[in-house]
Formats: sequence, C-alpha cells, structure tokens
Amino acid sequence: MIAHTPTIFACVALVATVMAFCLILAGQVNHRDGLFTTGCGLLAHALAYVCYTLYGHAPLWLTYSVANTLLAVALAFYLASIYRIRALAVPWWMVLSLPLLMALLMVVLIEHREPRMLASSSVLMLQCLLIVVVAQRRASPGGRAHVLLIIGGGISLIGLGLRVVAILFGTAPEMQYDVSNLKQTISVSIGTVTVMMFSLGLVLLSKERSEASLHHMALRDALTGMLNRRAILEQLSGELERARRAGSSLAIAMIDIDHFKQINDQYGHLAGDEVLCHCVRHLSQQLRQSDTIGRYGGEEFLLLLPDTPPAGAMTVVDALRQSLAANPALFGKRSIPLSFSAGLWCGVPGPGDSSDSLIARADAALYAAKQDGRNTLRLLQAGDAQDGFRSLAGAAL
Ligand code: GH3
Ligand code: MG
Ligand code: MG
Repeated sequence: MIAHTPTIFACVALVATVMAFCLILAGQVNHRDGLFTTGCGLLAHALAYVCYTLYGHAPLWLTYSVANTLLAVALAFYLASIYRIRALAVPWWMVLSLPLLMALLMVVLIEHREPRMLASSSVLMLQCLLIVVVAQRRASPGGRAHVLLIIGGGISLIGLGLRVVAILFGTAPEMQYDVSNLKQTISVSIGTVTVMMFSLGLVLLSKERSEASLHHMALRDALTGMLNRRAILEQLSGELERARRAGSSLAIAMIDIDHFKQINDQYGHLAGDEVLCHCVRHLSQQLRQSDTIGRYGGEEFLLLLPDTPPAGAMTVVDALRQSLAANPALFGKRSIPLSFSAGLWCGVPGPGDSSDSLIARADAALYAAKQDGRNTLRLLQAGDAQDGFRSLAGAAL
C-alpha cells in the first residue's frame, strides 16, 4: 500500500503534538521525572514533521534545514530525558553537539541534494545509536522501558539506513519528502514508530524509576537510610530458610545502644539522632560483605551473620562493640561516648525454628547482657536451655 507522504507527516505531527502537550502538562507536576523533557522532544518532533509537510510549497531552508535540525533537537531531548529520569546530570555538550552539527551541515549543504540527504540521515542515525547505547547502560536491563527504547532505536536505525542505501543507489529523487511511493511509505511510517516507541519507552522508564524509589523507600529507614524492620525481617526469613536447607550455621545478633535515653536527655533528640546515624555508619563500615544489618526498633539493630559458627559470631560482634566504644559520636563540637549490648542466637535452624522464635531468643540473650552490666554480649546456641547464656570469656563455644 502506498500512502500519501505529506499526509503521513501530518498524522505523525498531530499524534506527536497531542502527546507532547499531555507530557508537558504531566511534567509540570514534577520537573525532575523527565516527562517535561520528553514532551519538549515530542513538540520538536511534531514541528519537524509540520515543516516536512510543507516540502515543495515553502523554502528549502525551512522544509529541509530547519525540519531536520528540529528532528535532531527532538532526538537530543529524548536522550536528555533518559539522564533526567535516571536523576543523572545531563551531559548537554554531548546531547546538543549533534543538533548543532546538523544545523551546520544543513546550512553548508543546502544546495546539494544527495550530500545533504546523506548528512542528515547520518546525524540522525548517530543520535539513534546514542539513545540505544545510553538506554542499554542506564535503563534496568530486561525492563519494559529498556526493551521499548532499544527496539525503537533499532527500528529508527533501519528506517534511516534504508534512506541512506536508497540515496547511495542513486534513487534520491524517490526519497524526497513530497514524493509518495512504497519506499517512502515504509521509511516515513518508521518515523511514527519512533515517536511511539521513544515516548512510551521514556514514560515507562519514568514509571519504573518512581516504582524503584518507592520500593527503596518502603525498605529503608528514614533517619539512618539503613534497612528498616520490614526489610531486615524479610532478609532474616530468607537466611533462615537457606541455613535450614544447607544445614549451615546462622547467627543473629540483637544490638541495643546502652543508656540511649540518657543521651537524648543530656544532649537532646537531635544529638540522639546523630548518635544513631553515627552508629549505623560505623557498624556498616566494619561489617563483612556477607553480613546484613537493619534497624529493628528505636535504638535496636538486628544483625544477620550467615554461615557463621558461634565462636566466629561472638568474635565479629565483640569487635564491633569494641570499635564503636573506641569511636564516640560527634555532635557539633561535643563528643558523645556510646556503647552497645548484644544478644546472639547461633546454630543450624531446626524445623521448629521461626524468625520470631530466633528473635525471642536473641532478645532473651540481650536482656541477660543488660542485666550483666551492659557493654557486653551474651549468646544462646541452638539446643541451649532458655537460661544457658554464654559470654565471650565463659564456657567453650
Ligand atoms: P538500655 O541501656 O536499657 O537499653 O536503656 P536505653 O535508655 O537505651 O533504653 P530505653 O528503651 O529506656 O530508651 C530508648 C530511647 O530511645 C527512648 C526513645 O525515646 C529513644 N529513641 C527511639 N527512637 C529514637 C530516634 O529515632 N531518635 C532519638 N533521638 N531517640 C529515639
Ligand atoms: Mg531498646
Ligand atoms: Mg538501649
């Protein structure tokens, strides 16, 4: 089927204009989500196609030079949107260098049909390639946005490639914007696909990003940025299952800052908050790669040590205790000394063990550590009696 080329241009311009205004309106609510930039790209795309529609009825500088420069600007905005959506600084020099090159080439080559057609297609191909490469690196691999942007970029490359081949084979007159034939219908329809795929891909990328940040917020503690109670409990049930299946030793430690209420009372709640953040920073830096820590409650942290036997767990947690005691928190110019007590449970989880039962036992060990004067650890091993607490210096582990 052969379609009337200017009519396809007009249809694409109409669709792109409607989508541009929708995205620009939606983007007003939040300039950082990249939709405003995508909308600006669609507007430039629509204007370019309006100029193409006038080919043969208006001066060449408008219907060719300005039109292709606007199309290059549209692709530059799509590229910038990927950076915006991913909350990265837009490398404007790289993004805008190709539209500038397009403008320059269109001024220089305006009177030479084949060279100007080859130059414009080549610059646009370069831009599509750049979008594919940046999408490949910046969008979540395998996500819907990633797939759409790569396919959209790929299809545009094919469409532009077809134009280049036609020009090289001496059929440039058949590829002028006011000529209608099968090659033109295919090549120009590909422009529609580009508008659809790039704009849908970018909207999906923005959606994926806000979902990822909501997911991140749902699992992070607002004050310290570490895993929150829900996240650390999810990790615990995963580790528990893994240890049960593998028959390996799992250690968990309930860590509680000593006399934290006094810190709040003496230095104020802001100082208390800073002490919590200091504690998290310090403990996280000291942890082994395999270990995970999360905020269980106010000044209580749950530490998971997979594949760790009792003696190793006691050594790791005691090293954390000593290191924190040796590094007081700083609030303004004031140094705030702090220590913690910890209750550990360690062993190979049996069929009757659950997250709740292990936490209850670590809690009981913590209570014993507090009773023993604080700034110390107590351990309960699988199979120990409820009151069979062990200390670092106590019974053989
Ligand atoms: P112990 O040695 O027995 O653990 O005594 P403690 O004072 O540390 O424990 P207690 O449970 O009596 O007090 C904990 C305090 O922690 C009470 C609560 O106001 C404070 N707290 C809980 N969450 C936060 C927080 O996010 N920021 C601040 N500044 N304080 C908090
Ligand atoms: Mg407490
Ligand atoms: Mg406490």
